[in-house]
Amino acid sequence: MLPVVHNPYYHAPLPDGHRFPMGKFAAIAAVLSDLGFAPFHTPAPAPAEWIALAHDRAYVDQVLAGSVPRPIEREIGLPMNERVGLRSRTACAGTTLTARLAMEHGIACNTAGGSHHARAEHGAGFCVFNDVAVAIRVLQADGLIHRALVFDCDVHQGDGTARIFADDPSVATISLHAAANYPVRKATSTLDLALADGMEDDDYLAVLDEALERAEEFAADIVFYNAGVDPHRDDRLGRLSLSDWGIAERDRRVLAAMRRRGLPIAGVLGGGYMSDVEALARRHALLHVSARQALG
Ligand SMILES: [Zn+2]
Repeated sequence: MLPVVHNPYYHAPLPDGHRFPMGKFAAIAAVLSDLGFAPFHTPAPAPAEWIALAHDRAYVDQVLAGSVPRPIEREIGLPMNERVGLRSRTACAGTTLTARLAMEHGIACNTAGGSHHARAEHGAGFCVFNDVAVAIRVLQADGLIHRALVFDCDVHQGDGTARIFADDPSVATISLHAAANYPVRKATSTLDLALADGMEDDDYLAVLDEALERAEEFAADIVFYNAGVDPHRDDRLGRLSLSDWGIAERDRRVLAAMRRRGLPIAGVLGGGYMSDVEALARRHALLHVSARQALG
């Protein structure tokens, strides 16, 4: 049975017509429930002390107090109110719980997370706190892991994660992303694979195989897999052209490669941008279905 982590707080109300598809989190829970993944593991919101292991304490306090400066709020692209702060704290705890469950069961998946544009100083690009970075720091502080691998297949570069761990040899960051996509100013991951616009399944999977082979150079006690579905051809913000089959095959290959290494796998949702949140939720659920099959 694949452990799946969810909390209704993953949803925070947004103004009508907001371009972030917030409705997808409840929709994913419904899809996964129909597919037999319930009951879910439910995280409590992360305490500020956990989040401050990966972020500047002053920024953490601003988010919790609802006093994020306007320029930063604009860079994040979400209204920085109490509910959005609560959502972000809960996602951090959710990815931390997902990692603990992965160490116990082999694989576990969150129904949120992968906020990879958030850097230590502040959030950006719909990302408030970097949940994967927080989880790694909490697990390290608890002595559960020494080293971690972040394998990020969201179509946007994991720039925040790369910056947080830039000078930390205990964490390797690998990012497969559309070269021409956000962010304009890229960070330097341990390994970056920048892809040309319009890339389709076969070419993408060839690059993926290369990335998985090179990932074996990096010792780790756990892998965090960002399974963003925004490389899909119908995505509003992606620039690649993967099919549903391509997304599912990507997930299967990543999971199989990490399983062969005996690495616990913590799957996080990552990006996905469509106005049809039901269709988007089904696409995100491809990860959970593949993870359940990989667990056997
Ligand atoms: Zn993305």
